[in-house]
Amino acid sequence: ADDVALDPWGSSAVSDYRKLFEEFGIEEFDEVLEEVPNPHYLMRRGVIFGHRDYRPVAEALREGEDAAVLSGFMPTGDPHIGHKLVFDEIIWHQQQGADAYGLIADLEANSARGMSWDEIDEHARDYLLSLLALGFDPDEGTLYRQSTNREVQDLAFDIGADANFSEFQAIYGFDGETDVSHMQSVVTQMADILYPQLEGPKPTVIPVGPDQDPHVRLARDLAERTRFFKVSKAYASFELEDAERDLVADFHEKLDPAEFDDDQLRCVHVAEAIEGTPLEELSVPADTLSSVLTKLEEAGMEPVRPRTRFFDRRATDEAFDALIDAIDGEKRVYENHVDAFEIDRAEAEELAREVEVDNGGYGFRPPSSIYHRFMTGLTGGKMSSSVPASHISLLDDPETGYDKVKSATTGGRETAEEQREKGGKADECPVYELYAYLLAGDDDEFAKRVYDECVGGERLCGDCKEQAAQLMREFLEEHQEKRAEVEELLEAADIELES
Ligand code: SF4
Repeated sequence: ADDVALDPWGSSAVSDYRKLFEEFGIEEFDEVLEEVPNPHYLMRRGVIFGHRDYRPVAEALREGEDAAVLSGFMPTGDPHIGHKLVFDEIIWHQQQGADAYGLIADLEANSARGMSWDEIDEHARDYLLSLLALGFDPDEGTLYRQSTNREVQDLAFDIGADANFSEFQAIYGFDGETDVSHMQSVVTQMADILYPQLEGPKPTVIPVGPDQDPHVRLARDLAERTRFFKVSKAYASFELEDAERDLVADFHEKLDPAEFDDDQLRCVHVAEAIEGTPLEELSVPADTLSSVLTKLEEAGMEPVRPRTRFFDRRATDEAFDALIDAIDGEKRVYENHVDAFEIDRAEAEELAREVEVDNGGYGFRPPSSIYHRFMTGLTGGKMSSSVPASHISLLDDPETGYDKVKSATTGGRETAEEQREKGGKADECPVYELYAYLLAGDDDEFAKRVYDECVGGERLCGDCKEQAAQLMREFLEEHQEKRAEVEELLEAADIELES
């Protein structure tokens, strides 16, 4: 299944999106589409095909509640029409009321791609101008560079304390030769992803290509990890119950502590040490706990079932189940006040975040993500920044854009006659993609007409490409005019343009 290996720094095309759903747990976007207010055409046309946990974002947009969108751009070349998808996604979310963040991943470009700072400055400027020209509102949104954002770097340092090398090895294939800056660029990226929540937890969406999914998974994992760490602290203030005191006494009487490993011992001592004990000493993995319980049962004891403080920091689902079991319908002493908890999972999550924030933590919500298809290169294969003929740069001369479309590969048949008879293969045609992803804009009717006429054999490639090429020329002309107009906006925006 190497063809679906997700490598954020590799060049592999993701050829089988279906496998992403099965192997990586990305869900189909169609299933959430109805919950999205005024869905963008990229959503309606299935260009955005997958998501992780997008529902809370959709709900916040619907209800006018806090939400955020963030995406980063690695300034390694000119922005091209593939990047426009991400610009559009950020801008659309901003227009729907989300706090929007566009960042320049200059540290990553420097450390993972070896770009010089001069090159980075030049490309960064080009990305930002296109983002503004397409409608990003810099007064409402936030633009920043990784290298000059101190808060991001502090956050990265904090997050680094929760991540370790083995994890990076497993996720990114890092080895003994991997340089430290590369690892640092990963924690910086994690900090970027969580940055919109520094002022408080909120649903946040990261629009990405599927190759970026490992970053999203790691960020989700880290967000939850920190949270449970803090939540268990809050629950540690529960009062000891008599049964637990008995359990501890029983334990010392009937069992030889030498039989237990350190983790297990800690687990048994939890009840004794519960008040005033640092959290680290209370947190034990769920499987350690269950092995202890088994031993106690084997010794003829009746152990008290686990309560919320026995969190496995890694198995968050289990932890939630334990949390819900423990508080469902019961009155509990909770941080010096008594609350009746009768809550479902979502409420438990919310509570967990509040507890964490009260305890000086971040309370991050696991970030959500949406995934868009990669555009096919105009010459077939993958659209690549390093192959000029495969893509149209947003900086290309409009005539060059026109020419590139005219010489693009199509899904047409050998002869016009065959095309009239069998119809073209719009699903395999890079030119059709141009219509669907960009040229038809918001006009679904137009995109559909091109498709139907193509597969119905009424549309022939020569005319079809001519029309697309003209639209591309117009698009580039307009875009570049707008870029010139927003120069001032960029100068006025709160972002350092030179490193
Ligand atoms: Fe592609 Fe247009 Fe030819 Fe159809 S008619 S295969 S959409 S170029």
